[in-house]
Amino acid sequence: MKISYVDLKAQWQEEKKELLPIIDKVLSKAEHVGGSEIIKFESKISKLCKVKCTVALNSGTDALTLGLHLLGIKRGDEVITPPNSFIASAASIVHLGARPVFVDVKDDQLIDPTKIEDAITNKTKAIMPVHLTGRMCDMKSIMNISKKYNIPVIEDAAQSIGSKFMKSPAGSIGHVGCFSAHPLKNLNAFGDSGYLTTNDSKIASKAKILSNHGMVKRNIVENFGYVSRMDNLQAGILNYHIKKLNRIISIRRKNARLYNNMLNKDYVFIAKTDKNTFDTYHTFVIQVNNRGQLVKYLEKKGIKTSIHYPNPIHLQPAAEFLGYKKGSFPETEQQSKRILTLPINQFIKEEEIEYIAKNINYFYERS
Ligand SMILES: *Cc1c(COP(=O)(O)O)cnc(C)c1O
Repeated sequence: MKISYVDLKAQWQEEKKELLPIIDKVLSKAEHVGGSEIIKFESKISKLCKVKCTVALNSGTDALTLGLHLLGIKRGDEVITPPNSFIASAASIVHLGARPVFVDVKDDQLIDPTKIEDAITNKTKAIMPVHLTGRMCDMKSIMNISKKYNIPVIEDAAQSIGSKFMKSPAGSIGHVGCFSAHPLKNLNAFGDSGYLTTNDSKIASKAKILSNHGMVKRNIVENFGYVSRMDNLQAGILNYHIKKLNRIISIRRKNARLYNNMLNKDYVFIAKTDKNTFDTYHTFVIQVNNRGQLVKYLEKKGIKTSIHYPNPIHLQPAAEFLGYKKGSFPETEQQSKRILTLPINQFIKEEEIEYIAKNINYFYERS
């Protein structure tokens, strides 16, 4: 058996017949920048995420950057976030001249709310929880802290479209939600794309303007902006993919259940899901000893895995100026050596999951 970690080629083969006419239709209108597909996409996301406003953008990273900027983050400010995210979460903070202040995570890879208050200073101007793996952070505790200290929350929901916390969708609980539609995300475009959600219509209209060079109307610029627009073509593709999202999420949840039932818990740690959350499994992550050996063994068996992420952000060369050291965040550092992402995409077959689980169990049981 040969099992790839993701299968974007299979996605294209499955969708090609339906998508080619859609692509033709969108391109025939010649609305390449701006356009009706974008307006449609924004209203679909607002409905899905139960928010007043959505702004279609060119990436999750720019959603974070614009979101932070519109929450007033500027030079010298501090933003609290976990150190085990994709690099873009911290990069967006740094690019505004602010400082990421990291807070360690729980055994489920999500920011530990009991450690947030200790990290708050008079410079803290936002909290950025990351719903890593498609699992929601403890938003009740985080929003309580937000209220207590009057600090806004920006959700890095890049991996969690459709996820819920106590029935509230990702991106609808904090002041701003930031999503990615990168080809590897559960709701994916065929290139870079992202979007921002909010109930604050002022933030939304400013984000829209800033994403378009700051132009209030043609040739009138009140603030220098960026070029962070979503392409109409990508919006057209996303409007097609969004119809499949529920199915994709339920297949991923089923795949996670299969792994959960089959993997030997004496050797494989799988973080418990909170009864308050609805997880969408952007990734399925296990924690194991002897990971390097296991990866090699699985590769020999034709199984590709991945690691999200092997190098914590605070230990990246780029983060040296922040002054963190090895040992600053023990849980994150410990997990970075033990986490392993297994294939869980919607194209994987039940017998393939069984094959993967059997091989993992065998690797530990035989020794
Ligand atoms: C993918 C991702 C981003 C960045 O999104 P892009 O669309 O690639 O810019 C940010 N944060 C997290 C947690 C992500 O997984």
